Amino acid sequence: MAPLTPGKAFGMYCCGPTVYAPAHIGNFRTFLIQDVLRRVLESDGIEVCHVRNITDVDDKTIRRSQEQGRTLSDFTAIWTEKFHKDCRELNMLPPTIEPSAVAHIPLQIEMIAKLIEHGHAYVSSDGSVYFKVASDPHYGKFVDVSTLQTQTTNSAGEANSADEYTRDNVADFALWKARKPEDGPNFWQSPWGEGRPGWHIECSAMSTHYLGETFELHGGGVDLCFPHHENEIAQAECSCEHYGSFAQQWFHSAHLMVDGAKMSKSLGNLYTLDDLVNKGFAPMALRYVLISGHYRSQLNFTLKSLDDAASALAKIEKSVRKILAAAGMSEADFVAQEPDRQAPWGDFERAWKTLGNDLNVSGALGGIFGAVASLAKREMTPEEARTQLMGLTKILWALGLKLFTIKEKNSVPATSEAADVPAEIAAIGEQRWAAKIAKNWAESDRLRGELEQRGWKSLDRKDGYTLVKI
Ligand SMILES: [Zn+2]
Repeated sequence: MAPLTPGKAFGMYCCGPTVYAPAHIGNFRTFLIQDVLRRVLESDGIEVCHVRNITDVDDKTIRRSQEQGRTLSDFTAIWTEKFHKDCRELNMLPPTIEPSAVAHIPLQIEMIAKLIEHGHAYVSSDGSVYFKVASDPHYGKFVDVSTLQTQTTNSAGEANSADEYTRDNVADFALWKARKPEDGPNFWQSPWGEGRPGWHIECSAMSTHYLGETFELHGGGVDLCFPHHENEIAQAECSCEHYGSFAQQWFHSAHLMVDGAKMSKSLGNLYTLDDLVNKGFAPMALRYVLISGHYRSQLNFTLKSLDDAASALAKIEKSVRKILAAAGMSEADFVAQEPDRQAPWGDFERAWKTLGNDLNVSGALGGIFGAVASLAKREMTPEEARTQLMGLTKILWALGLKLFTIKEKNSVPATSEAADVPAEIAAIGEQRWAAKIAKNWAESDRLRGELEQRGWKSLDRKDGYTLVKI
C-alpha cells in the first residue's frame, strides 16, 4: 500500500461510532483492526491521515437525549468522552481528524444541493430530500440492484422512518429528513426547509472534504457494506460526477461472534469494555483477543480467550525479562522505550514480514513468541540484547500491544512461604491456582478438596497464594 500521490499522506476514512451508549466489543474489533492497519503503515514509513467520524445526530441520539432531559450536544459529549476513554485504555491511536456530523451540517447541505443540481436527488412533498438510485448507473458495488427492496432499515438496524410513499422509488434513500415534531429542538435550516441530514451523507461529505474526491482506503465493519457504504459511494461520486473516484480500496472487517452466537442484548452477550474490566479482565488482554483473528474471518470471542490472552502476554514477558537482564535494562526502561523506525528488526523481521502479509496478526504473534523464546536462551552482549529489544518494541508498537501492563491476572503466584511443603502438595497447589485463574471453578474446588484430604489448605491473595498445614 502506498499514497496515491507521492509525498502526500495515505488517506484512510473509517466510519466512527454513534455516540448514544458505550461502544461494544464488536465495534471495537473493527476499530482495533483499523488501528493495527494504520500502525503497520506508519511502521513502514507511510504517513497516514486517519479520519474517523462521530455520528452525533440520528434517531437514537435524539431519542435518548430527550429521555434523559439533556440537550443533544450535552448528551453526545458524554458518550464521545466515554468512547475516547475506552479507546485510550485499548491503546488506540487517536485519529488524525475526528469530525462530527453536527459540526459539518453546511458541508452536507452543500453536497445534497449538488446532487439535486445534477439530477441525482429530488425534494419530496414533505421537504425531505431523497437520492434517486435509478439515476446512478454505477450503483451496485456491494449489492445486486435487481434485488433492491425498500431500504426499511439503516445499517445500524434502525427502522428507516422515512415515509416511503413520498419517494419516487422504494430503493431511494433519504439525504435530508424534514423536521418532525419528535425531533424537538434538533433541526437545522436548509434550502428545503428545516430538518436534519440522513446518516449516509455525513460520511460522503466529511471523507471527501478532508481527504479529497479520491482517497486511498475506506474502512468499516462488513455489516456497513450495504446500504451505508453503497450509498456513500453513490452520493460522493454523483455529487462530483466522477465515477470510480471515491475510496480506491475497501477494508471491511468480519463480524465478532460471542460464545458462537451473534451478539445481542437479549442473549446477554453484548459486552462493553467496562463489563469485562468489572469481571477482572485487562483492556490489553481484550486488545490482544480482538486483533488476533484475521480481519476477513469471523472471530469467536469467549471469556476464556481473555485469560488465554493474559497468559500469552505473561509468557512473552517471562522471556523478555531474561533478555532485559542480558541488556541491563529494567521493565520500566523497556516500557518507556519509543520505537525507532530506522532501527533494525533483528530477530523480529519474520514477525514483521508476516504482519505485512494481509495483516496476519496471529502469524506475527507466533513470530514474536518464537523470537523471544530463542533470544531468552541466547548468549548476547548487552548491546546485542538492546538491539533485539528495539526490534521487539517496533513490532509491539505495530500491534499496539504493551507488555507489563497486566498486573493482577498474570502475576506469578507466590508458592508456599513454608519451606517444608512436599513437592506433590506444591504441585497440586499450583494446579489449583491455575484452575482458579482460568475460572475453572469445578477443577479448582476438586483440587482444594484434594489438598484438604492431605492436610493442607491454600490461603489465597489477589496476586498469589500460600500453602499452610491444617
Ligand atoms: Zn460511514
